[in-house]
Amino acid sequence: MAERSVLLSVQDLKKTYVSATGPVEAIGSITFDVRPGELVCIVGPSGCGKTTLLKCLSGLLAPTAGSVTLDGAPVTEPPRTMAVVFQEYGRSLYPWLTVRDNVALPLRARGVPRAERTTAVERALEEVGLSQVLHKYPWQLSGGMQQRVAIARAVAYQPEILVMDEPFAAVDAQTRADLEDLVRRVWQDLGVTVLFVTHDIDESVYLGERVLVLSSSPTFVQEDLAIDLPAQRDQLSTRALPRFTELRTHVYEQIQRAKRAETAPTP
Ligand code: ADP
Repeated sequence: MAERSVLLSVQDLKKTYVSATGPVEAIGSITFDVRPGELVCIVGPSGCGKTTLLKCLSGLLAPTAGSVTLDGAPVTEPPRTMAVVFQEYGRSLYPWLTVRDNVALPLRARGVPRAERTTAVERALEEVGLSQVLHKYPWQLSGGMQQRVAIARAVAYQPEILVMDEPFAAVDAQTRADLEDLVRRVWQDLGVTVLFVTHDIDESVYLGERVLVLSSSPTFVQEDLAIDLPAQRDQLSTRALPRFTELRTHVYEQIQRAKRAETAPTP
């Protein structure tokens, strides 16, 4: 069988909202492809259209024009082979279900037999370092641990693509660093394709193998940047590399340029 060269394809995607005060052009035109096994970060200033893009990618919102295809099929509803991890872990886990049952829920919904489900859930919880809290409830865990449960749930589902929407914006800096390392480990261990959306420039450079820098709204892809940092990264030595500083400065400048373009008076 021929190797697939593209998993997710976004072609000339446009989105204009119709609001009471008139049309709002959120996405001007976005085009990019993600290859199987890539770890791609999408970074852009607040209000630039990241959430709109994600909703279109995950089939929750119909674009005004253009297309999203996953594995060659147009996305018109939430795809079975995509798992999404949201920022608000508190609202994405069911408080009346144990950690194990939260992680098992999507597998149950998919009709995965019990024995297979148990193995997948235990493996996923082990992968995120939570084997010890199987029988606890989400509200008995810290915010960072709850987000690990949400990641385990996505991993257990064995998606082709894992989409993460600013998943660490609500946790403290130390927990965030641990969770960033967890994402890279999961990506390396499982070979899953990851699309990670963030407004944090350093995070996008530290995590990504590739960073798409979005312009201000109406959005387009301002730059598609390869991150040529070593595959084995750690919070201290990677962030201390001169190349890390160069890359984050470059992305920062791009985003400042995007913001200036947004506020510049039209001639
Ligand atoms: P981000 O996630 O990057 O902060 P959003 O996708 O939420 O950006 O928003 C992009 C633009 O679209 C913003 O100008 C926002 O005000 C506008 N927008 C978002 N949702 C709606 C909506 N439902 N109706 C009208 N405008 C919207």
